[in-house]
Amino acid sequence: MIIDVSQIITNEGAVKEIDGELSLADLSFNGQDIHFTAPVSIHGDIKNISGILYLSLDCRAQFVTKCGRCLEDVEETLDFSMEEQLSKLPSDEEVIIIDSSELDLDELVIKNFCSELPINYICSEDCKGLCHVCGCNLNHTTCDCEDDYIDPRLAALKNFLK
Ligand SMILES: [Zn+2]
Ligand SMILES: [Zn+2]
Repeated sequence: MIIDVSQIITNEGAVKEIDGELSLADLSFNGQDIHFTAPVSIHGDIKNISGILYLSLDCRAQFVTKCGRCLEDVEETLDFSMEEQLSKLPSDEEVIIIDSSELDLDELVIKNFCSELPINYICSEDCKGLCHVCGCNLNHTTCDCEDDYIDPRLAALKNFLK
């Protein structure tokens, strides 16, 4: 979504309400594949305070990703708030420099979404994950190899303790 900030960037005290939905393309971040199942809803505003634009948004993203243990699909909703400061000129504040009167919200929302993502999602606290040896999904099936498997690091420790 492109926001036209030409009106507020020249008017101190000006406020523009933002309400909308962003249709974002699927993305991959830190090894997590994110498939958005609905547009990301955004609500908030952008204010001109002493020549700096303060963007403040509440966002809700709905998406499918993979369980970090068993790799099955999990449906998730992530609510997050974001704040950014923007200016046409460099400033003492930490600002994003915008070089036109058009602001691409998609880019900023994606950046903030990625920074809010947990390291991974799991389908349930009880997820048993995949067998380290044969790769079967231990939530759905059992295998014989699991008991025989000794973590190489533990094996080394066992030998050390002999
Ligand atoms: Zn799982
Ligand atoms: Zn197995």
